[in-house]
Amino acid sequence: MRKRSFNLHKIIEKRVLTDSTFVLRMERNGLDFVAGQHIQVGPPNGIHTREYSIYSGPADDYIEILVREVEDGLVTPALKKLDVEDGVVINDAVGYFTIEKEVTAGLPFLFVASGTGISPFHSFVKQYEGLDYQVLHGVRLAEESYEREEYESGRYIACTSQDEKGDFHGRVTDYLIANPVNSDTLCYLCGNCDMIHDVFDILEKQGVKSENILTEVYF
Ligand SMILES: Cc1cc2nc3c(=O)[nH]c(=O)nc-3n(C[C@H](O)[C@H](O)[C@H](O)COP(=O)(O)OP(=O)(O)OC[C@H]3O[C@@H](n4cnc5c(N)ncnc54)[C@H](O)[C@@H]3O)c2cc1C
Repeated sequence: MRKRSFNLHKIIEKRVLTDSTFVLRMERNGLDFVAGQHIQVGPPNGIHTREYSIYSGPADDYIEILVREVEDGLVTPALKKLDVEDGVVINDAVGYFTIEKEVTAGLPFLFVASGTGISPFHSFVKQYEGLDYQVLHGVRLAEESYEREEYESGRYIACTSQDEKGDFHGRVTDYLIANPVNSDTLCYLCGNCDMIHDVFDILEKQGVKSENILTEVYF
């Protein structure tokens, strides 16, 4: 297959979700991917790019990413300044944090995210209709429950550590200790490495086999 290098994609929509978090929708321009994969994205003419999980579904005729600005970061403040009609550079989608084969097993999925780590799960839910899943989303504030209406009622649980306006007050780890999973659950963990490490330990103690726990570390 032809190797795709960085191409310029025009931004066609920008959704500001909180002071620091936004969704950029870009022209698709033939970019092929499977839900769960990520792309490198950077400002036009910029020499720096960063990885972003694809937030949109493969059937959409656009590409979306969900970005949280990191103060003093090299790339995110520049992406935040961009708007509709600006371009970003994007390369091929890569990665193995996918559920293509696993959906055929018919087992329930548990998706555990911190912050923007919800992005690949949003794409899964868009790609696979009728998926049996539960999303646990660890955020500080309920306002960071990014576009929660996109998930089927009852399947999305916001675990808020700094306010009581979510579905559960506490971290995802507290939720899992209070609500153990069935050991036959397929568990996908995405976000910061501390959360992933702690959740992995809890799930193993609850009897989930390590080969049924997949991880995608952002930082
Ligand atoms: C496979 C993969 C997929 C990713 N998908 C996404 C995504 O969908 N959305 C998204 O927003 N980010 C995602 N990231 C993180 C992203 O690639 C960048 O690291 C992040 O946007 C910061 O880039 P920056 O250039 O602004 O900061 P940098 O200059 O690279 O980093 C500054 C510092 O901030 C830390 N940092 C990085 N991300 C965060 C964060 N979210 N919160 C706090 N500190 C952070 C870094 O460890 C570093 O120490 C992903 C990372 C990987 C590896």
